Amino acid sequence: MKKYFQPEIETMPVEEIKKLQSERLVKQVAYVYANNKYYKKLMDEKGVKPEDIQGIEDLHKLPFLTKNDLREAYPYGLLSRPLKDCVRIQSTSGTTGRRVVAFYTQHDIDLWEECCARALVAAGGTDEDVVQVCYGYGLFTGGPGLNGGSHKLGSLTLPMSSGNTERQIQFMRDLNATILCCTPSYAAYIGEKLHEMGFTPDDINLKAGIFGAEPWTEEMRRDIEQKLGIKAYDIYGLTEISGPGVSFECEEQTGMHINEDHFIAEIIDPETGEVLPEGSEGELVFTSITKEAFPLLRYRTRDLCVLSRKQCSCGRTHIKMCKPKGRSDDMLIIRGVNVFPSQIETVLLKEGYTPNYQILVDRINNEDTFEINVELSQEQYAKLQDDDLAFDKAEKKLVGAMVGMLGIRPRIHLLAPHSVVRSEGKAVRVVDKRKLHD
Ligand code: ADP
Ligand code: ZN
Repeated sequence: MKKYFQPEIETMPVEEIKKLQSERLVKQVAYVYANNKYYKKLMDEKGVKPEDIQGIEDLHKLPFLTKNDLREAYPYGLLSRPLKDCVRIQSTSGTTGRRVVAFYTQHDIDLWEECCARALVAAGGTDEDVVQVCYGYGLFTGGPGLNGGSHKLGSLTLPMSSGNTERQIQFMRDLNATILCCTPSYAAYIGEKLHEMGFTPDDINLKAGIFGAEPWTEEMRRDIEQKLGIKAYDIYGLTEISGPGVSFECEEQTGMHINEDHFIAEIIDPETGEVLPEGSEGELVFTSITKEAFPLLRYRTRDLCVLSRKQCSCGRTHIKMCKPKGRSDDMLIIRGVNVFPSQIETVLLKEGYTPNYQILVDRINNEDTFEINVELSQEQYAKLQDDDLAFDKAEKKLVGAMVGMLGIRPRIHLLAPHSVVRSEGKAVRVVDKRKLHD
């Protein structure tokens, strides 16, 4: 069985990768400077000339790009190729504001799909697999990215898109899907539905899943693996840099290899912009060194992350990033305390609750309110429904666990099964009503 999609690249010695990155960076900076007025202006303002960039050691001299730049330059301002050379437009999901659009030449599509094919092979995929893609198709990059990767690998591709979960399961069974690709929250929902329909993992043929596009915890991974009887792999990406497949997990499941022949990763201090040494937590920044149409240099993702060059048992040499903790702007500040939705998810799953939850924050009489709606499983509900004492005890215990993790006290509402809306794409975990008052 093929262990790597492109072994010569994926296992290239680190020194060679760095050399390759340096060569590509120098060319890319000259190309962008010559073809992109917006970035040229940023470089001129910073007093940096293309000749100042002789290799990756000079990367820090280049100006950053932010999502605001992308919004300002919308739609064509950061395009570095004539439109007639482009073959595709995709767009972000707009999780944090106005959508931005990204352009691709055929070369850009090819490299993106190759990255997704690498992810599929790392999850054990071959041309004998049946890959069920239930990420959304369309402007969102999830569906098209994994679809393209599956084609590149020669797997039989089921372009389901998201939604109609019973049909997903029917096709999964009838057509013997072996690899599932979707958001982790949708995977959890498919697992739940499978059991509701009276099936067990023995009734399906899935062996692996590739889940990404939103943050998810290790606890969530175990929940999905158990519900579907599979090994669950993480995949990361963002539209601005290409889409899913910027990095992907291997069998070690301890972080995602970044495709370093295409993307250079840095970790910076989000406050000062200073580059931090390997192993520090900070904001992830990407420079795309092979893209033609929309090559962003030093793009600030706002994702908080740690990089590691520790040798990986899979044999891949590309640097690994940890699961992003969430975006810097996902972080809630409640009564002055920093709270990440991922911390709440960790507590819920550790305490044996379902991954169906929603966090509600508001400000009433100048004070922050903090509530968590948590859905009970059928069994929990049956047990607690008529036993007020046990119900109160369960709620108190969960509040205690939350205080232990977060340092502040939420109000917990344990709800009947199916009270929290299921997500078919990116889950909406937080409703922050304070934003409406501003
Ligand atoms: P939007 O920024 O509008 O959500 P995208 O659909 O391009 O647009 O989403 C990219 C973002 O999704 C990333 O910057 C990151 O915050 C999040 N993301 C993608 N994959 C993962 C993952 N595996 N784990 C955590 N977050 C992820
Ligand atoms: Zn590995």
